[in-house]
Amino acid sequence: MMRSHIDKVILSRQRISRRVQELAEEITRDLSPHVSRESHLTIVSVMTGAMVFCSDLVRQLPLQLRIATMRVSSYPGIATNTQGAKLVEAQFDGLAGGRVLLVDDILDSGSTLRLLVPMLKSHGALEVKTCVLLRKKRPEAMATPVDYVGFDIPDEFVVGYGLDYDDYYRNLPDIVSLKPGIIGGEVGRRA
Ligand code: 5GP
Ligand code: MG
Repeated sequence: MMRSHIDKVILSRQRISRRVQELAEEITRDLSPHVSRESHLTIVSVMTGAMVFCSDLVRQLPLQLRIATMRVSSYPGIATNTQGAKLVEAQFDGLAGGRVLLVDDILDSGSTLRLLVPMLKSHGALEVKTCVLLRKKRPEAMATPVDYVGFDIPDEFVVGYGLDYDDYYRNLPDIVSLKPGIIGGEVGRRA
């Protein structure tokens, strides 16, 4: 059972839900004056980690918007530190002349945002705003420019609410840390 793999709940589903609502209000306030037929809005969700966060967030944005996805690989498989962000798949059509809100699950080394923001701009986006649910309290993350941050969390490996370990645990509704024996040991599929 996944439950027996949890060490601590770092952020409960209730706290996440309240914060997502606040972020949505802030984003709506900032972007609604600019979103019109002349300047369209595309929400770009970084797959797969941001999928759960982004789907909760967009349903709180009463704006006319489109959704696109990009797939980046930085923590392949059982890695628990970044191996450098690489673009795996992207939809760049229709960005020209519009605004983009790039949504990711967690800001860690900053390599994902540093890779994607210039790419989106080079495909013609007028403005790229960035939003992450989590930011790790480590110097590289704190030094990376980002427009909206849900929570600053301690620099430890977390899963749940879209975040994975070896592609498992994304469906946990809370954000949690795993017991020491799980990481680097017998992985979820057998336990
Ligand atoms: P960055 O490119 O900023 O180093 O890292 C961003 C990506 O690394 C995130 O989108 C996420 O996929 C992965 N990542 C960073 N920290 C964690 C973590 O604590 N847990 C999980 N599951 N993924 C993380
Ligand atoms: Mg990711």
